[in-house]
Amino acid sequence: MFWLLDLLMFFFPVNCLVCDKRLTSPGAVLCLECEYKMPRTGYRDLKDNPVSKVFWGRVPVEMGTSLFRFEKGSAYQTLLHDLKYRGNKKVGTHLGRLLGHELKHTSFSSCDLLVPVPLHQRRLRERGYNQSEIIARGTSEVMGIPVVSNLLRRADQHHSQTSMGRYERFENVSDSFQLALNPPNVNGKRILLIDDVVTTGATLEACSQILFNHYKCLVYIATVSCA
Ligand SMILES: [Zn+2]
Repeated sequence: MFWLLDLLMFFFPVNCLVCDKRLTSPGAVLCLECEYKMPRTGYRDLKDNPVSKVFWGRVPVEMGTSLFRFEKGSAYQTLLHDLKYRGNKKVGTHLGRLLGHELKHTSFSSCDLLVPVPLHQRRLRERGYNQSEIIARGTSEVMGIPVVSNLLRRADQHHSQTSMGRYERFENVSDSFQLALNPPNVNGKRILLIDDVVTTGATLEACSQILFNHYKCLVYIATVSCA
């Protein structure tokens, strides 16, 4: 069997997405060194961490965290870029698994369900998949918590976001989510919202708000990267 794998790697070499070094396993996306050197936040055990604080005074989120920090020009950003714009779903699954390992023995593991931030239908058709859902599925594999993707949805938008100014676009996020049709009842549940990145927190705030408007639930937030 191994010769077959070697042969496969010879004809279809895979390089580390961060340092471009040749990888030795066909399923990998990162070399061990780059995985080890990833600028992890380590926020998972700190309740008052910078990601949690993004939501303070906005929505009563229990806790937030991210796998790694966004550093300008960092090669690690390539990972999310590959997932979102180059159709590399494998990287999303891998990052989701890393996030799962990061959260496994923390308060995040008390969550009952993982809810990926939904993608707009139009985007979903263009891209073919929701990157947050790919991440959530990887996380789910490791944490053993089910993914629920029929709870939230993007609201239909009547005007194009691109014709709006930056401020309007920011404001617009608050009404861009709604409950999905026939959503499951998640009263009393601990919900872990999953997204690829958190910057202003507007998207995750909007999702949390919808959940709080309709259910008596607790909300946790985890993303792969944070600004
Ligand atoms: Zn590498």
